[in-house]
Amino acid sequence: MKQENQENLKISFPQRLLSPIKHFLEAELLKSKRAKKNLKNADPFLDSNRVLENSLEEDLDEQIDHFETEVKAKFLNKRIVQLRKALTRIKIGKYGLCESCGKMIDTDRLAINPLATTCVKCQKEKEA
Ligand SMILES: [Zn+2]
Repeated sequence: MKQENQENLKISFPQRLLSPIKHFLEAELLKSKRAKKNLKNADPFLDSNRVLENSLEEDLDEQIDHFETEVKAKFLNKRIVQLRKALTRIKIGKYGLCESCGKMIDTDRLAINPLATTCVKCQKEKEA
């Protein structure tokens, strides 16, 4: 019984920190979704008024714009997935736990990067 209590203490993320993090994540998710929507509107390839008889220079500009849009979209998609994942982890009570070793991630680390899914030690091992 005593051991079980200790286990619970070890793995529960401080509630008072959870609420602001959840708000932050929800706000970021909304922002990312909005940015993604704006990005789609900016993509010349998806522009219905797009002129098909462009000069070569205009074509190149469009290609570059399209490429930049794709890179940004990929970044936003990744971020949206990470944010959703973090919110799910809050919901199931697993937020703040290292995915590799299951221990609590340092709260200082999470304050800097709320999307961190591994502790510093495991992160270093991953990068090594
Ligand atoms: Zn770890």
